[in-house]
Amino acid sequence: MTFATLGLSEPLLKAVAELGYKKPTPIQIKAIPAVLSGKDLIAAAQTGTGKTASFVLPLLEKLNDEKTLRGKRIRGLILTPTRELAIQVEASIAQYAKYLELSSMAMYGGTEIEPQKQRLIWGIDILVATPGRLLDMAHQRALHFDELEVLVLDEADRMLDMGFIDDINKIIERLPQERQNLLFSATISDDVRGLAKRAIHKNAREISIRFDSASEPKIDQWLVTTDKTNKSALLSHLITELRWQQALIFIETKHGAAKLVSQLEKRGIKAESIHSGRTQEIRERILNDFKAGKINYLVSTGIAARGIDIGDLSRVVNYDLPAKVEDYIHRIGRTGRAGESGEAISLVSKDNFRELCAIESRLGHIIPRKDFVEFPVKKTVPISILNFKPKHRS
Ligand code: AMP
Repeated sequence: MTFATLGLSEPLLKAVAELGYKKPTPIQIKAIPAVLSGKDLIAAAQTGTGKTASFVLPLLEKLNDEKTLRGKRIRGLILTPTRELAIQVEASIAQYAKYLELSSMAMYGGTEIEPQKQRLIWGIDILVATPGRLLDMAHQRALHFDELEVLVLDEADRMLDMGFIDDINKIIERLPQERQNLLFSATISDDVRGLAKRAIHKNAREISIRFDSASEPKIDQWLVTTDKTNKSALLSHLITELRWQQALIFIETKHGAAKLVSQLEKRGIKAESIHSGRTQEIRERILNDFKAGKINYLVSTGIAARGIDIGDLSRVVNYDLPAKVEDYIHRIGRTGRAGESGEAISLVSKDNFRELCAIESRLGHIIPRKDFVEFPVKKTVPISILNFKPKHRS
């Protein structure tokens, strides 16, 4: 299977080849022809599977028809949960559209509205936006949806988790009835189904790329059990002893993130942190520095968990296990992207046992444990019971 056989034309094939993509990923094989056929789509797939290209490539193909764009109008709208993801999706569009005359823009809150308004004046082919800022723009009549052809809801589950449902509903009400709808979500929960019912036509195609299928990126997962009080010392030990060159480290609270950075620094490890307490500008700068390899260890709260594609990130660390299994899946999806191998390490203390059971049950297997003699554990973490079934009495 090649990109050409999926129905993409020369300018896109050339851009994709230049990016080094040799063949389409499973989600691309399923989604690209479906989107080109004009059908609505509900796709269960997470980041790391090549899902962005699976909707951006056919969207570009469809919009590449020399239609004149009117002022303040858009033809494709991609809604994303976070600014970071909006920026990243737009960057992908710019790469894929290198040999096309189509315009794109990322629009998100937390930055001045006026420059974004100015850019909309002549119209934009594809707008990637977070829901709140998009509604602001519509209210201010800086943007009209009457020429919209395709709506993409990217990471729909995350948008619902983040409480965007009202904004999304208000946006959908404003869109023309006749449009193509694509919904991508790592998990298809009841809430996502509810959203799909409102946003997507009834005859939508459904495709699913299962997390544990053979097509998934290779992620080597392992964990270290530890006492809670020893976590930062253990992390420093892992970084130095195992000579980790790079790690994206997830932690629950912003206070914890700042503290961990200073604890690492005391042990001679220079790290940075991103969380909601830092300005958008600083977050973007740090993320870029991390991507460029200027920062080796990045401590992050949930905001960076979804959607962020950091080139060839080799390792993620769950300093804290997330409360939701979905978040674990999304986090480890930051590594091992598009066939590359990656590593996901969790530091687990006894009070994380419930979360661990939920994660391992979902994975369907126990995550291998590694011991470090320098860090004996006082409060041992029991082995999870997967699919526990009570014995029948004979
Ligand atoms: P995504 O799932 O959209 O976040 O994409 C994950 C990563 O895979 C990105 O770095 C893409 O550039 C890359 N990618 C997407 N499609 C392909 C492909 N067909 N071959 C190789 N890499 C790809």
